[in-house]
Amino acid sequence: MTRNLVIIGSGPAGYTAALYAARAGLKPLLYEGLQPGGQLTTTTDVENYPGFPDGVHGPELMELFKKQAARFGAEYAELRNVAKIHTGKKPFTVEDDMGEKVDAHAVIIATGASAKLIGLDKEKTLMGYGVSACATCDGAFFKEKEVAIVGGGDTAMEEATFLTRFCTKVTVIHRRDQFRASKIMLERAKANPKIQWKLWREVVDIEHDEKKKVTGLVLKDTQGKGGTEKFATQGLFVAIGHQPNTQFLGPEFERNEVGYLKVSNGTRTSVEGVFAAGDVHDPNYRQAVTAAGWGCAAALDAQRWLEHHGIA
Ligand code: NAP
Repeated sequence: MTRNLVIIGSGPAGYTAALYAARAGLKPLLYEGLQPGGQLTTTTDVENYPGFPDGVHGPELMELFKKQAARFGAEYAELRNVAKIHTGKKPFTVEDDMGEKVDAHAVIIATGASAKLIGLDKEKTLMGYGVSACATCDGAFFKEKEVAIVGGGDTAMEEATFLTRFCTKVTVIHRRDQFRASKIMLERAKANPKIQWKLWREVVDIEHDEKKKVTGLVLKDTQGKGGTEKFATQGLFVAIGHQPNTQFLGPEFERNEVGYLKVSNGTRTSVEGVFAAGDVHDPNYRQAVTAAGWGCAAALDAQRWLEHHGIA
């Protein structure tokens, strides 16, 4: 059986694409990946998704998206990660990392983006031993501890504020004194007495004990004065942005210099019949509501393309 449409990714973009495609009678199959619900499942209160005046929890919002698309016949390949899209023939073949294959006339890529790391070797080896890239996932493990968080954007401010629910002290380490964070989130963090600031610093090393538990950081001055200092802490949270999840795609998919998919004429990728939606191609807005909008656009583009080719 060849599917009309396969959607890869289960964030706001993927589920919204599934909703629109299902309502159009396309019976889409959506691969949820290993983190169903995507980035919103690592956030707590979402205060800026329209329609929820009192806010909504990220995981709950994603469950609602999923349920709404299922109501119209969307199907889900749960906990399945797509390893490859074979684009050399039509219909395409989508292969998951268990080696199982599904043929599809059209595909929407909505795989989003993942947290970036600083690039220190120890960051990876100490992940889970005091280093984390997700405060909402791991914050509760740091009850009554002192932690540091790297970054100067909204993610760092949001996560620093969230961590004060558990930690006795949270130190924001940022490489300059200007912030990308929005005024409201920066001010909220600045007003929090548990949050301290170390500006003009970058983390160049992570120290740990014999059980691999983080004990401190080595910070370097970024103002050209040189010199390093030790900073005692029990945890390091990295909150320095995201990278698009496009590594599984072949070179036929055009990307920009940092890996975001290139789209033209709406949501069309460089492979005819494959569309992109959400953070995987949009480095600018990266909001749940804009991702959902892209999901809608990609589903409409795919539906029109299938119709134009007399497929569905
Ligand atoms: P971001 O805005 O790109 O900020 C990344 C921060 O990390 C910057 O301060 C950057 O420093 C720093 N950084 C990058 N690479 C670094 C490195 N190698 N070492 C040290 N520092 C490094 O990313 P984000 O905070 O994840 O936010 C992304 C988007 O999501 C934004 O549009 C944001 O508004 C949105 N967002 C919204 C919410 C919300 O509304 N609830 C929450 C989270 C995120 P420089 O400034 O020096 O480059």
